[in-house]
Amino acid sequence: MLKTLFARLGLARQTATIDDNVWQEVVGALPFLSRRSAADLEKLRALAADFLTSKHFSTAHDLVLTEAMCVSVAAQACLPILNLPPALYRGWTGIVLYPGEFLIRKTVQDEAGVVHDVEQEASGEAWEGGPVVLSWQDVQASDVLAYNVVIHEFVHKIDMEGGEADGVPPMLRRLHGELTPEAWCNVFDPAYEEFCHHVANIPDARWDSFASTSLLDPYATEHESEFFAVCAEAFFVAPEAFRDEYPALYTLFSRYFLQDPAAPAATL
Ligand SMILES: [Zn+2]
Repeated sequence: MLKTLFARLGLARQTATIDDNVWQEVVGALPFLSRRSAADLEKLRALAADFLTSKHFSTAHDLVLTEAMCVSVAAQACLPILNLPPALYRGWTGIVLYPGEFLIRKTVQDEAGVVHDVEQEASGEAWEGGPVVLSWQDVQASDVLAYNVVIHEFVHKIDMEGGEADGVPPMLRRLHGELTPEAWCNVFDPAYEEFCHHVANIPDARWDSFASTSLLDPYATEHESEFFAVCAEAFFVAPEAFRDEYPALYTLFSRYFLQDPAAPAATL
Protein backbone atom coordinates (compact mmCIF):
# COMPACT_ATOMS: atom_id res chain seq x y z
CA MET A 1 0.00 0.00 0.00
CA LEU A 2 2.67 2.47 1.06
CA LYS A 3 4.85 1.26 -1.76
CA THR A 4 2.10 2.01 -4.26
CA LEU A 5 1.56 5.42 -2.74
CA PHE A 6 5.25 6.27 -2.80
CA ALA A 7 5.53 5.03 -6.35
CA ARG A 8 2.61 7.22 -7.36
CA LEU A 9 4.21 10.21 -5.68
CA GLY A 10 7.50 9.41 -7.32
CA LEU A 11 9.12 8.81 -3.93
CA ALA A 12 10.10 5.21 -4.59
CA ARG A 13 12.64 6.25 -7.19
CA GLN A 14 15.94 5.09 -5.83
CA THR A 15 18.17 7.95 -4.79
CA ALA A 16 21.48 7.74 -6.60
CA THR A 17 24.24 7.28 -4.06
CA ILE A 18 27.54 5.44 -3.95
CA ASP A 19 28.67 3.80 -0.74
CA ASP A 20 31.57 5.70 0.92
CA ASN A 21 33.83 2.67 1.28
CA VAL A 22 33.28 1.53 -2.29
CA TRP A 23 33.98 5.04 -3.62
CA GLN A 24 37.21 5.37 -1.60
CA GLU A 25 38.33 1.93 -2.74
CA VAL A 26 37.69 2.76 -6.42
CA VAL A 27 39.36 6.17 -6.32
CA GLY A 28 42.31 4.81 -4.31
CA ALA A 29 42.96 2.16 -6.97
CA LEU A 30 43.13 4.72 -9.79
CA PRO A 31 46.03 7.18 -9.34
CA PHE A 32 44.77 9.51 -12.09
CA LEU A 33 41.57 9.93 -10.05
CA SER A 34 43.06 10.14 -6.56
CA ARG A 35 45.19 13.13 -7.63
CA ARG A 36 42.07 15.13 -8.53
CA SER A 37 40.74 17.96 -6.33
CA ALA A 38 38.04 17.28 -3.73
CA ALA A 39 35.62 19.38 -5.81
CA ASP A 40 36.31 17.32 -8.95
CA LEU A 41 35.84 14.06 -7.07
CA GLU A 42 32.60 15.20 -5.51
CA LYS A 43 31.26 16.15 -8.94
CA LEU A 44 32.55 12.90 -10.45
CA ARG A 45 30.87 10.88 -7.73
CA ALA A 46 27.50 12.52 -8.40
CA LEU A 47 27.89 11.96 -12.16
CA ALA A 48 28.92 8.34 -11.61
CA ALA A 49 25.88 7.77 -9.35
CA ASP A 50 23.53 9.11 -12.04
CA PHE A 51 25.36 7.03 -14.63
CA LEU A 52 24.77 3.90 -12.55
CA THR A 53 21.03 4.51 -12.45
CA SER A 54 20.80 5.11 -16.20
CA LYS A 55 22.99 2.23 -17.45
CA HIS A 56 22.56 -1.53 -17.22
CA PHE A 57 25.57 -3.71 -16.40
CA SER A 58 25.83 -7.37 -17.36
CA THR A 59 28.64 -9.90 -17.59
CA ALA A 60 29.67 -12.77 -19.83
CA HIS A 61 31.23 -16.16 -19.05
CA ASP A 62 30.13 -16.28 -15.41
CA LEU A 63 32.10 -13.18 -14.39
CA VAL A 64 30.64 -12.17 -11.02
CA LEU A 65 29.53 -8.54 -11.04
CA THR A 66 30.21 -6.47 -7.91
CA GLU A 67 29.22 -2.95 -6.92
CA ALA A 68 32.90 -1.90 -6.96
CA MET A 69 33.26 -3.05 -10.59
CA CYS A 70 30.26 -0.98 -11.67
CA VAL A 71 31.44 2.07 -9.70
CA SER A 72 34.95 1.76 -11.17
CA VAL A 73 33.64 1.70 -14.75
CA ALA A 74 31.19 4.54 -13.99
CA ALA A 75 33.87 6.76 -12.42
CA GLN A 76 36.28 6.28 -15.33
CA ALA A 77 33.53 6.66 -17.93
CA CYS A 78 32.34 9.93 -16.38
CA LEU A 79 35.79 11.55 -16.17
CA PRO A 80 35.72 12.81 -19.79
CA ILE A 81 32.25 14.37 -19.26
CA LEU A 82 33.13 15.94 -15.90
CA ASN A 83 32.56 19.41 -17.41
CA LEU A 84 30.55 18.38 -20.46
CA PRO A 85 26.80 17.55 -20.75
CA PRO A 86 25.94 14.03 -19.48
CA ALA A 87 23.62 13.83 -22.52
CA LEU A 88 26.72 12.80 -24.49
CA TYR A 89 26.06 9.28 -23.15
CA ARG A 90 22.37 9.18 -24.00
CA GLY A 91 20.44 6.79 -26.23
CA TRP A 92 21.81 3.44 -25.06
CA THR A 93 22.06 1.58 -21.75
CA GLY A 94 24.14 -1.60 -21.92
CA ILE A 95 27.62 -2.16 -20.50
CA VAL A 96 28.88 -5.73 -20.88
CA LEU A 97 31.94 -6.95 -18.98
CA TYR A 98 33.92 -9.96 -20.20
CA PRO A 99 36.49 -11.57 -17.90
CA GLY A 100 39.25 -10.98 -20.48
CA GLU A 101 39.68 -10.21 -24.16
CA PHE A 102 36.79 -11.20 -26.42
CA LEU A 103 36.34 -11.90 -30.10
CA ILE A 104 34.75 -9.37 -32.42
CA ARG A 105 33.82 -9.99 -36.04
CA LYS A 106 34.73 -7.40 -38.59
CA THR A 107 34.32 -7.03 -42.32
CA VAL A 108 37.50 -5.84 -44.01
CA GLN A 109 38.41 -5.19 -47.61
CA ASP A 110 41.84 -6.28 -48.81
CA GLU A 111 44.04 -4.46 -51.35
CA ALA A 112 42.46 -6.42 -54.20
CA GLY A 113 39.01 -5.22 -53.12
CA VAL A 114 37.95 -8.61 -51.76
CA VAL A 115 35.80 -8.44 -48.63
CA HIS A 116 36.64 -10.81 -45.77
CA ASP A 117 34.96 -11.58 -42.46
CA VAL A 118 37.66 -11.65 -39.79
CA GLU A 119 37.66 -12.36 -36.09
CA GLN A 120 39.82 -10.23 -33.84
CA GLU A 121 40.56 -10.21 -30.12
CA ALA A 122 39.54 -6.96 -28.44
CA SER A 123 39.76 -5.41 -24.98
CA GLY A 124 36.88 -3.04 -25.61
CA GLU A 125 34.27 -2.11 -28.16
CA ALA A 126 31.73 0.73 -28.39
CA TRP A 127 28.72 0.08 -30.61
CA GLU A 128 27.12 3.03 -32.32
CA GLY A 129 23.75 3.43 -30.56
CA GLY A 130 24.43 0.20 -28.64
CA PRO A 131 26.38 -1.15 -25.70
CA VAL A 132 29.96 -0.67 -24.56
CA VAL A 133 31.75 -4.00 -24.18
CA LEU A 134 34.83 -4.18 -21.95
CA SER A 135 37.37 -6.78 -20.84
CA TRP A 136 37.42 -6.56 -17.04
CA GLN A 137 41.04 -7.74 -17.02
CA ASP A 138 41.94 -4.75 -19.19
CA VAL A 139 39.82 -2.35 -17.14
CA GLN A 140 42.08 -3.23 -14.20
CA ALA A 141 45.35 -3.05 -16.17
CA SER A 142 47.64 -0.29 -14.99
CA ASP A 143 51.07 -1.49 -16.12
CA VAL A 144 51.11 0.64 -19.29
CA LEU A 145 51.57 4.38 -18.72
CA ALA A 146 48.78 5.85 -20.84
CA TYR A 147 46.41 2.89 -21.18
CA ASN A 148 42.75 3.07 -20.20
CA VAL A 149 40.19 0.99 -22.05
CA VAL A 150 37.18 2.59 -20.32
CA ILE A 151 38.17 6.14 -21.27
CA HIS A 152 39.05 4.91 -24.78
CA GLU A 153 35.64 3.36 -25.43
CA PHE A 154 33.61 6.17 -23.85
CA VAL A 155 35.51 8.79 -25.83
CA HIS A 156 34.41 6.84 -28.93
CA LYS A 157 30.85 7.25 -27.61
CA ILE A 158 31.37 11.04 -27.36
CA ASP A 159 32.81 11.05 -30.90
CA MET A 160 29.75 9.12 -32.16
CA GLU A 161 27.37 11.71 -30.66
CA GLY A 162 28.67 14.12 -33.29
CA GLY A 163 27.74 11.70 -36.09
CA GLU A 164 30.09 9.11 -37.50
CA ALA A 165 33.18 8.47 -35.33
CA ASP A 166 35.76 10.59 -37.11
CA GLY A 167 37.94 12.08 -34.38
CA VAL A 168 35.88 15.30 -34.31
CA PRO A 169 33.74 15.33 -31.14
CA PRO A 170 30.54 17.40 -30.94
CA MET A 171 31.16 20.99 -29.90
CA LEU A 172 28.71 23.37 -28.26
CA ARG A 173 29.08 27.09 -28.82
CA ARG A 174 28.05 27.95 -25.25
CA LEU A 175 30.75 25.67 -23.84
CA HIS A 176 33.45 25.70 -26.47
CA GLY A 177 33.23 29.24 -27.82
CA GLU A 178 35.72 29.61 -30.63
CA LEU A 179 36.67 25.93 -30.63
CA THR A 180 34.71 24.99 -33.75
CA PRO A 181 35.12 21.69 -35.65
CA GLU A 182 37.29 23.62 -38.12
CA ALA A 183 39.51 24.99 -35.34
CA TRP A 184 39.72 21.45 -33.92
CA CYS A 185 40.82 19.97 -37.26
CA ASN A 186 43.45 22.68 -37.73
CA VAL A 187 45.35 21.22 -34.78
CA PHE A 188 44.16 17.61 -34.72
CA ASP A 189 44.62 16.65 -38.39
CA PRO A 190 48.30 17.69 -38.74
CA ALA A 191 49.07 15.99 -35.41
CA TYR A 192 47.44 12.76 -36.65
CA GLU A 193 49.33 12.90 -39.94
CA GLU A 194 52.61 13.59 -38.16
CA PHE A 195 52.08 10.63 -35.82
CA CYS A 196 51.19 8.31 -38.74
CA HIS A 197 54.27 9.50 -40.64
CA HIS A 198 56.45 8.98 -37.58
CA VAL A 199 55.11 5.45 -36.98
CA ALA A 200 55.42 4.50 -40.66
CA ASN A 201 59.10 5.46 -40.58
CA ILE A 202 60.12 3.38 -37.58
CA PRO A 203 62.61 0.81 -38.90
CA ASP A 204 61.66 -2.83 -38.30
CA ALA A 205 64.69 -3.30 -36.08
CA ARG A 206 63.45 -0.57 -33.72
CA TRP A 207 59.77 -1.45 -33.81
CA ASP A 208 59.61 -3.49 -30.61
CA SER A 209 61.37 -0.88 -28.51
CA PHE A 210 59.25 1.88 -30.07
CA ALA A 211 55.98 0.03 -29.49
CA SER A 212 56.83 -0.68 -25.86
CA THR A 213 57.91 2.87 -25.01
CA SER A 214 55.63 5.05 -27.14
CA LEU A 215 53.26 7.15 -25.01
CA LEU A 216 50.62 6.74 -27.71
CA ASP A 217 49.76 3.21 -28.81
CA PRO A 218 50.70 2.86 -32.51
CA TYR A 219 47.16 1.46 -32.96
CA ALA A 220 46.20 5.17 -33.03
CA THR A 221 47.31 5.27 -36.69
CA GLU A 222 44.35 3.03 -37.70
CA HIS A 223 41.91 5.94 -38.04
CA GLU A 224 41.33 9.52 -36.83
CA SER A 225 38.75 8.19 -34.34
CA GLU A 226 41.36 5.85 -32.83
CA PHE A 227 43.90 8.68 -32.61
CA PHE A 228 41.30 10.73 -30.72
CA ALA A 229 40.53 7.88 -28.30
CA VAL A 230 44.20 6.95 -27.72
CA CYS A 231 45.19 10.60 -27.15
CA ALA A 232 42.31 10.97 -24.70
CA GLU A 233 43.66 8.01 -22.70
CA ALA A 234 47.01 9.82 -22.40
CA PHE A 235 45.34 13.17 -21.65
CA PHE A 236 43.43 11.77 -18.67
CA VAL A 237 45.77 9.07 -17.39
CA ALA A 238 49.26 10.49 -18.04
CA PRO A 239 48.55 14.22 -18.48
CA GLU A 240 52.06 15.56 -17.74
CA ALA A 241 53.70 13.20 -20.21
CA PHE A 242 51.05 14.00 -22.84
CA ARG A 243 51.45 17.76 -22.27
CA ASP A 244 55.25 17.54 -22.53
CA GLU A 245 55.26 15.41 -25.67
CA TYR A 246 52.22 16.84 -27.48
CA PRO A 247 51.70 20.39 -26.12
CA ALA A 248 49.39 21.54 -28.95
CA LEU A 249 47.17 18.46 -28.56
CA TYR A 250 47.16 18.85 -24.77
CA THR A 251 45.88 22.44 -25.13
CA LEU A 252 43.28 21.32 -27.68
CA PHE A 253 41.99 18.51 -25.45
CA SER A 254 42.00 20.86 -22.48
CA ARG A 255 39.81 23.31 -24.40
CA TYR A 256 37.45 20.53 -25.49
CA PHE A 257 37.08 18.61 -22.23
CA LEU A 258 37.26 21.84 -20.17
CA GLN A 259 39.79 20.24 -17.86
CA ASP A 260 43.49 20.72 -17.13
CA PRO A 261 44.43 17.34 -15.63
CA ALA A 262 48.17 18.11 -15.56
CA ALA A 263 47.56 21.07 -13.23
CA PRO A 264 47.92 20.17 -9.58
CA ALA A 265 44.47 19.28 -8.20
CA ALA A 266 42.61 21.72 -10.39
CA THR A 267 40.24 22.06 -13.34
CA LEU A 268 39.53 25.06 -15.51
ZN1 LIG B 1 39.11 2.33 -30.43
